[in-house]
Amino acid sequence: MSVQRPRIVCQFSCGAASAVATKLALAQYSATHDVQIINAFLANEHKDNRRFLLDCQEWFGQEVVQLRDEKYGADIIQIFRRERFMKGRNGAPCTKLLKRRLLDAWKQPGDVMVFGYTMEEVDRLEDFRERNPDRPVIAPLIDSGLGKEDCKALIMRAGIELPYMYLKGYDNANCIGCVKGGEGYYRAIREDFPEQFEELCKVQDELGPGSYLHRNRTTNERFSLRDLGDGPIRRNEKIPSCSFFCEIAEHEIADQIILRNR
Ligand code: SF4
Repeated sequence: MSVQRPRIVCQFSCGAASAVATKLALAQYSATHDVQIINAFLANEHKDNRRFLLDCQEWFGQEVVQLRDEKYGADIIQIFRRERFMKGRNGAPCTKLLKRRLLDAWKQPGDVMVFGYTMEEVDRLEDFRERNPDRPVIAPLIDSGLGKEDCKALIMRAGIELPYMYLKGYDNANCIGCVKGGEGYYRAIREDFPEQFEELCKVQDELGPGSYLHRNRTTNERFSLRDLGDGPIRRNEKIPSCSFFCEIAEHEIADQIILRNR
């Protein structure tokens, strides 16, 4: 009778950090564990993310399992229209419905998750472990002392071109117009990707002020992307990479707050 090996699950988000974390996890665990690599397809990422995925797949020497939402066409715009909000107190509906839900259906008890947290994110890892003592996670980049820039350099040294969004100066390869972005980031999106920017403006036109992402610093009133004024453009604004797992953390924190308040 064959004994099932424990699963180590790497979530590959088409970013440099998750690519290097996956490579390290494979090197460390593939002899003793069943290492799985999963990715959630998102229609709103730059299409070069798929090229990067295929290049990395070759580098890993193993298939990246691509999960794809069917209900919303894997499309954040459909999520916003149908769920009627873009970002709430418990996080963004897009990552929950297009990533976390897929992972929930796919995961198995006993899975050990691989976090692509970098040295800059040691606090996030500690925080997660403190809040989820029964959830085994490993963070190979932190164990190896690697930061974001190290990951980019390692990818380039492997002969793989970084995703287009990085080459353009962005800090990650998230969706074009990620709802976690600030004003400077959206000015950059308006300049570089006017079509996608306009699509988000139209969603906000339809949904109204409840969907607005930014606030006026003087009046504290929310304003729409259409009313975003001129100012600094920040392609490299620090926005967390969008992963299955950061959303789990956010969600569980929110669940604990709800339970405490009952
Ligand atoms: S990258 Fe941003 S917009 Fe895309 S699913 Fe994640 S949080 Fe939503």
